[in-house]
Amino acid sequence: MKKEEFYLLYSKWDGFHSPHTPEEIAKFPWRCSGCGEVFDDVKQVDSVIQNTYLSDLPKEKPLTSSWLCGGVKVVWEPFIRAIPQPILDHNLYFGNLLGQDGKRIEGWLTYRCRYNLQLRGTGKGGTKVRRITVCKDCGYVRWGAQGPFFLYPAPPADADIFLCGSSTLFRESVYQYLDMEQWRKKVYVQKIKVADKPLDGLDLPPFEIPRDLKWVEEHPDLERC
Ligand SMILES: [Zn+2]
Repeated sequence: MKKEEFYLLYSKWDGFHSPHTPEEIAKFPWRCSGCGEVFDDVKQVDSVIQNTYLSDLPKEKPLTSSWLCGGVKVVWEPFIRAIPQPILDHNLYFGNLLGQDGKRIEGWLTYRCRYNLQLRGTGKGGTKVRRITVCKDCGYVRWGAQGPFFLYPAPPADADIFLCGSSTLFRESVYQYLDMEQWRKKVYVQKIKVADKPLDGLDLPPFEIPRDLKWVEEHPDLERC
């Protein structure tokens, strides 16, 4: 049987800034003030874009992010709506992209997924993973895998679209709905396979649970920051 493949999509653009001050951002109740990661149970996130970035927004199509809490993901609506509605309803939580006047920016949506995965890598240059850290406030385990990348274990079977660092991962069966003929030049796409075993040989938490507090407790040696 042919092994299922996943497609990692990421923006070619720089993203845009929020008008909020770092002090205001630190008080947002939906993100950890320690590591900036959005809490697991948060669904819709609205994001505000600075006026100065509005004129650049068209070139950010179809995927970009807001430089706030490690990047709230933002998508051009016609791009993502090529995927049938029941699949979107099952996988994504959409929010609004707002101008500084509080009005919704038409055509754009923020999105969250039910799972936040982390890639692993075999590290062609010799380093498989850079600095594994645990957030001392929320227990989020973070590492910087060095490619070539792989997925391990297989992403949860009950979802097709996953947040994956600064990228978004699509199951092949869902990726095929996207109009990549139109958007190929605007998005980086990388095919990622699921490995049968942890090819990096590392003991890392199951990546669908970045805040696996039991795992964190069992690894007191890791750097807390
Ligand atoms: Zn945290």
